[in-house]
Amino acid sequence: MDHRIAAAKAALGKACIVLGHHYQRDEVIKFADFRGDSYRLAQAAAQAEGPFIVYCGVTFMAEGADILSRPGQAVILPDLNAGCSMADMAEIGQVEDCWQHLVELELTSDSGDRIVPITYMNSSAAIKAFCGERGGLVCTSTNAIGAFRWAFAKAGKVFFLPDQHLGRNTGWAMDIPLNEMAVWDPYMPMGGLTADRLRSARVILWKGHCSVHQRFLPEHVDNVRAKYSGIRVLCHPECRWEVCQKADALGSTDKIIKMVEEAPAGTKFAIGTEIHLVNRLAKENRDKMVVSLDDSGCLCTTMFRISPQHLCWALENLLDGNVVNRIVVKEDVKYWARVALDRMLEVR
Ligand code: SF4
Repeated sequence: MDHRIAAAKAALGKACIVLGHHYQRDEVIKFADFRGDSYRLAQAAAQAEGPFIVYCGVTFMAEGADILSRPGQAVILPDLNAGCSMADMAEIGQVEDCWQHLVELELTSDSGDRIVPITYMNSSAAIKAFCGERGGLVCTSTNAIGAFRWAFAKAGKVFFLPDQHLGRNTGWAMDIPLNEMAVWDPYMPMGGLTADRLRSARVILWKGHCSVHQRFLPEHVDNVRAKYSGIRVLCHPECRWEVCQKADALGSTDKIIKMVEEAPAGTKFAIGTEIHLVNRLAKENRDKMVVSLDDSGCLCTTMFRISPQHLCWALENLLDGNVVNRIVVKEDVKYWARVALDRMLEVR
């Protein structure tokens, strides 16, 4: 399989770049021309020159690459089953329904003059377009604080979706108390909130989460500290607020990698993020100790669907002139989603 993938890549040459998310398995990511979190890979996709972008990630990432790509470029997701459970927790109809309630309460207008919607990168293209059309933007865990600052410079409230944990951790980092953040549950009438609660909240969070990061619990931090003296706990901000409160530092995957690489030899780390990245950090930093915050390991099962066989199949088809598993975002959605993504790329 390695030989076939390498041969297909070599034959395609500059016509094709392979993007690999940090959570990909080693057998796949070793073929990536660019490795990164969704922010870095969005930048790489926007700068790609060849006609084919093979995205070893999940659907919303490949949609983002299609939105940012140039005319004539095709984005390919080697397995169409590689979705994201968090992105699936916010459907466009539910989000429009929520917004309608906010408009009826006169908390904002349809154009978003008093509430800025921010969606995490981990959302469908339709949700990104929803935010772009209402004066909002997309963010990643790398620039979530910058996105909140940008939004609060425009309006008094932020509507953040779909990850309640990233939204809460970001609000908290900006000194917004928990009682000024309300959680909208799309399966409850009026989101399970009163009009007064919605009026007083500075941040309205969507009730979504990452099934991988939500598995980390505060007791995992206590256990690992009891087991290894002096260990540093690094967590991704998709982890629960209670876990992040106990961590030594929070960071996007790129930031976590940097913190480990730059630490002195002998430093011990427990990391609260996807297991493939944690294992790779352990292998690539043998002068330090790197363990998962949870012994049972947290695997992103959807990301794992991209196998070497799928990558090989996609590349060999390209060589034969067949573009398989192309991800295409509809033109009307693309326009406003691009507006929201362009704003993201400008915010640090
Ligand atoms: S780790 Fe979580 S948020 Fe990231 S792709 Fe997997 S399910 Fe989605």
